[in-house]
Amino acid sequence: MLIGRFLYKDFIFIGRVYDGVVYPLSEHDLNISQLCDENMLKSDRKNKIDKPCYMLDELKVLPPCVPSKIVCVGLNYKDHAEEFGLPIPKEPILFLKPPTTVIGHGESIILPKQSSHVEYEGELAVVIGKKAKNVSQSDAFKVVLGYTCANDVTARDLQKKDQQWTRSKSFDTFCPIGLYIATDINPANLNLRVYLNGELKQFTNTNKLIFDVPALVSYISSIMTLMPGDIILTGTSSGVGKVEKGDKIEVVVDKIGTLENFVNA
Ligand code: MG
Repeated sequence: MLIGRFLYKDFIFIGRVYDGVVYPLSEHDLNISQLCDENMLKSDRKNKIDKPCYMLDELKVLPPCVPSKIVCVGLNYKDHAEEFGLPIPKEPILFLKPPTTVIGHGESIILPKQSSHVEYEGELAVVIGKKAKNVSQSDAFKVVLGYTCANDVTARDLQKKDQQWTRSKSFDTFCPIGLYIATDINPANLNLRVYLNGELKQFTNTNKLIFDVPALVSYISSIMTLMPGDIILTGTSSGVGKVEKGDKIEVVVDKIGTLENFVNA
């Protein structure tokens, strides 16, 4: 199932997307925690929620979730570590992006004046569906709502200059996510492509992740409580590169779809 967040006039809702039509999962604005708790995603409900519905072109598509935090994994593809001449990590390398970095499909990444070298990083994002602490790897999928595309936009010059990565990763608009959340898919074997102005720049498969989704959910939840709507960015492959004003970036993941954003100053 593909689910997204939408704006219709002044009404924000989560809806199921099917064949260009959006079916609200409730008559009132639900958050992701309620969606999971009330079993709104059970397939036997599909026929009970068909009215009212909206055509996609009537709606503004919003970022598909509202995270309290975005937990990111660095150097989680061998070829990306090698690209930077860095050793393969023995444990996941974590950092955070603030929720204010989030933008949705079609919104603009704004180049900050403090940086002269901003890069894209296409990634698979895990969307958490249930409050999670100390989750075992075997239970990890029970707390995952689904998956979406993400771009871990990075001011590479500031990342190299600073002692740590907070500034380089945290500018407003530096975390495009979307377009929708795909539930009920296996994240272990998905092709991931990034196009810059239509040219293929990154191409990998999530089967190349050093630490896979269950390992990451378990590891991160042993440190901090994950909340419904929180996002884990699973890391990027080789092929990252600089963006300029006017560029179009597309992150495309099998079974999820395309996240498209433009770059502005
Ligand atoms: Mg990254």
